[in-house]
Amino acid sequence: MTMKTLTAAAAAAALLALPGHANVVAQRQSAPAPGNDVVRVLPVRGNIWMINAGGSNIVASIGKDGVLLVDTGGAAMSEKLLAALQQLNRAVTATGMPQKSCVGVVQGCSWWNSSTFLPATAAPAAPKPIVGIVNTSFDADHMGGNVAVSAAGRSHVGIAPLDAWIMAHEKAPSHQPKSSPLPPAAGPSEAYEGDSFKLNFFNGEGVVLWHMPAAHTDGDTIVQFRGSEVLAAGDVLNMTSYPVIDVEKGGSIDGVVKALNWILDVAVVEHMMEGGTLIIPGHGRLTDSADVAYYRDMVTIMRDRVRAAVKKGMTLQQIKAAKITRDYDGRFGKTSYTPDMFIEAVYKSCSCAKS
Ligand SMILES: [Zn+2]
Repeated sequence: MTMKTLTAAAAAAALLALPGHANVVAQRQSAPAPGNDVVRVLPVRGNIWMINAGGSNIVASIGKDGVLLVDTGGAAMSEKLLAALQQLNRAVTATGMPQKSCVGVVQGCSWWNSSTFLPATAAPAAPKPIVGIVNTSFDADHMGGNVAVSAAGRSHVGIAPLDAWIMAHEKAPSHQPKSSPLPPAAGPSEAYEGDSFKLNFFNGEGVVLWHMPAAHTDGDTIVQFRGSEVLAAGDVLNMTSYPVIDVEKGGSIDGVVKALNWILDVAVVEHMMEGGTLIIPGHGRLTDSADVAYYRDMVTIMRDRVRAAVKKGMTLQQIKAAKITRDYDGRFGKTSYTPDMFIEAVYKSCSCAKS
C-alpha cells in the first residue's frame, strides 16, 4: 500500500487495530487536524532528511548503517510515516548516498517526490532497517509513533535481533501521569544522563545528543549531525508558534533562551546566503542560523517585556490584558498555543522578582 492510497480512515482503522499498549499512546495523541494528515519529505543535506508527518517534524539519517530517526511524530501518523520511510529508504538504497544539499541558489529546494528516483527504483535493493530512535522530548506529538516505528525496525545487542532501540534524556519520560503510565514499548530502551551523549558514528558521521535543561521541558535533547552540519532542535524551536514551555514538566523561558543561544553558538553561518548549519525545528519549516537568531530575539524580547511588567508590579492578568505580544502574534500567535498561554508560561518560569 502506498502512502497515496492510504486514506485517513484506513490509517485510523489501522491504529484501532493496534494492540493494548499502543492504544494508550494513541489516546493521548489527538488526531491531526483535517488536511494536516499528510507525510512530506524534504532532502536536507547528505544523509539527512526532514519528514513532516501531521505537523510534527521527524529527522531521518538514511545510509549504509540503516535508518536513525529523531522523533516519530504522533501515533495517528505511524502507518503513513512507515510507508513513506520505506519508500524513501528503498529509493536511497537503490541510488546510493549521499545526496547533495537542497539548500542554496545552486541546488534549489523542494519537497521530495518518489518519482524523482523512478528509473533507479525499477530494481529496488532491500531497504536497510530502522536501527534506532532518539526522542527530543516525550511529548505525544514527538514520541507517539515510538511503539509502531520501533517494532518495524531492527537492532542487535550481541547476536539477538531486537526492535529498534529508543533513546532519550533520562528526564524526558519522567512526567507521565500516574493514571496513564507509559507503555514499556514506548519508553526509552536506553536513557542518557548529563549534558551530552555521543552515539556511535552512524552513516559516516558523528551523532551527538545534547541535553537542554529546563527549556521546553526538563528532558529536551538537540541532536547534532556533525558531518552533515544539521541540528534536530525539537520543540525549543518552533516555526509555527511561540515556543511551548511546559512548566509542569520542568520547562522555563530562561532555558528556552539558553537553548536557542546554544544553537547559535554551535551553528555556522554561510556568508551572504541561506545555508550553513541547517536547523530542523520541532514544527514548521527548515531553518538556518538567521531564522534562529530572529526567533531567539523574539523570545528574548518577550521575556524582557514580562520581566519589565513584573518589575512594575503588574499581575499575570494585567500582563495578559496588556497584549505585550501583539506585534508578533500575526506570525506566532495563531495556533492552539495562544499568546496568553505563552505569557503565562513565561510569567511562571522566568527569573523575575515577583512580589
Ligand atoms: Zn511538538
